[in-house]
Amino acid sequence: MARVKKEKIALYIHFPFCIKKCPYCNFYSVAALYSEKTYAKALKQELFLIKSFLESLVKNYQVVTFYAGGGTPSLFSPQFFEDLLNFISKHFNFSPKELTLEANPETLSFDKIKAYQKIGLNRLSIGVQSFCKKGLKFLGRIHTPQKTYKILKWVLQAGFTNFSLDFIFGWKGQGEKTLKKELVKALEFGPPHLSFYELTLEPGTPFFKNYGSEKFWISEKKLIKFYKIIEEFLESRGYERYEISNYSLKGFECQHNLFYWKVKPYLGLGPSAVSRIKHLRWENPPTLKFYYKKLLKNNELPLRIIETLDELSLAKEYILMGLRLKEGISLGVLKRIYKATISSEALKKLKSKNLIKVKAGKIFLTFEGKLKHNQIVSFLWDYLNF
Ligand code: SF4
Repeated sequence: MARVKKEKIALYIHFPFCIKKCPYCNFYSVAALYSEKTYAKALKQELFLIKSFLESLVKNYQVVTFYAGGGTPSLFSPQFFEDLLNFISKHFNFSPKELTLEANPETLSFDKIKAYQKIGLNRLSIGVQSFCKKGLKFLGRIHTPQKTYKILKWVLQAGFTNFSLDFIFGWKGQGEKTLKKELVKALEFGPPHLSFYELTLEPGTPFFKNYGSEKFWISEKKLIKFYKIIEEFLESRGYERYEISNYSLKGFECQHNLFYWKVKPYLGLGPSAVSRIKHLRWENPPTLKFYYKKLLKNNELPLRIIETLDELSLAKEYILMGLRLKEGISLGVLKRIYKATISSEALKKLKSKNLIKVKAGKIFLTFEGKLKHNQIVSFLWDYLNF
């Protein structure tokens, strides 16, 4: 009998709690007292209810990645995760190779790191943000560089071989010298993966209110220089810029995030989490109160369907997400799977400006193109034939 091919799915769980809200952050989280017990109860209820909804969309699936993001999932104890993972294994076709926990240095101890590893979490994404005291202060972070050094030593001592150091660059007062020092320091810990996110001013955050829509403290020229420094430094040391903000050694790309960038199906649980399976995209509204009420009182899923994606929307998503990747997008896939083509006139225009390269039927962004990702995407959308 022929084996039925299982659809691979990525599983994301959101933890909407933080010790303190950072002034630049627009992720949904609350700096309030929380109960592991109540959150576990709600999550289990959501898992229980989503199972049949998921199976109505895709019969044969296999969950291949687990990602606990936030907020601050590392506020939660290893016992909490052990219990949650056992529950998921019991009710879902769950065989993940990569299980990531986002961790805030302030919440970790050696015993906790060891215990996370023991229960099967095999990848840490550590929110370093900066190795500079001034940077951490500006970003309103609660940890110190010394604390991060200690944590990173423990991560290595515990035997974690897969972890990411996540940075924010372009903060007020950061100069080239500081950035270079941070890069050198980061590599002392031999991270197989690093993320470098440009500090952006997100509407609704205190930073946005204080600094307006202009980051007057940093010029565009300086920002481009920062991108260049990061790329050159890391690529010369064997890291690949496999995605606009992400660098890794070979084989250490974040498998979970590749599901988003490659327009593959993902299931998100917890308040504010988004899911896309087949042609359906839905989200859980970003309020904990509503989440608890729906699950624990009404016994209902807290989700809201955002849209049913037609082929054109999926083609657009493929361009938007795929162009973030070094490997870019394939004109063949665009035609075969999404029934769309891009006019050669548009490609010629972008090529002449050195924003894209076209090779063996694939389009990918140049260094300059990566700086203009959003503009290029909307330009290509305008030239999409369907
Ligand atoms: S710890 Fe992370 S999720 Fe929480 S407020 Fe700060 S940046 Fe946002």
